[in-house]
Amino acid sequence: MSSALGVSGLGLAGALQIVTYPYPTLRQVSKSLKRVDDELRQMVRRMFDLMYASNGVGLAANQVDLPYRLFVVNLKADPKAAPEFVFVNPVLSKRKGMSEAEEGCLSLPGVYAQVKRPERVTLDAYDLTGQAIHLELDGLFARVVQHEVDHLDGKLFIDRLSTTGELQVRESIADFELTFQGMRDRGELPGERAIAERLAELEKLRT
Ligand code: ZN
Repeated sequence: MSSALGVSGLGLAGALQIVTYPYPTLRQVSKSLKRVDDELRQMVRRMFDLMYASNGVGLAANQVDLPYRLFVVNLKADPKAAPEFVFVNPVLSKRKGMSEAEEGCLSLPGVYAQVKRPERVTLDAYDLTGQAIHLELDGLFARVVQHEVDHLDGKLFIDRLSTTGELQVRESIADFELTFQGMRDRGELPGERAIAERLAELEKLRT
């Protein structure tokens, strides 16, 4: 879908970018949303666009440096092939069974590993219009929503690896940490305090 608004017309939404590990917002526990406004709707649109540009099937708000309990999903990474879901203030329950499958993350591009999770899960949430959503999920959908709710709790899939899995990704993780430190040292990233202040402002607006 094309938009009449250019990136500059989108303000903060247009400026959103996916942050990569170990950007501090990825470790923050996100706050429940109390208010949905036009700017937030534009931010969610931007999240879908960023997710599709990276061929992702799920993206949590803190992956674009927003402190809200919200994530988006498209199981085919393509709006023409599968429906778009926005889950606000999601709660998981009734976890059943166990399955193992490979996961990746748009905040850790190029890193993949096997992750064990419950096979089935119940998701309760709201959409952007305040309508309640209740879904009983399995397979990929169940895996994606568990990965995304983990994000909102400040957790990453690399926290859930077996010892073997950890060894396999160790070098890549160290590379991400070195790159981040280098950018910080060169002043290419905001400092801890600037990041925290910006998140606090955004929380004040809507949580
Ligand atoms: Zn992820």
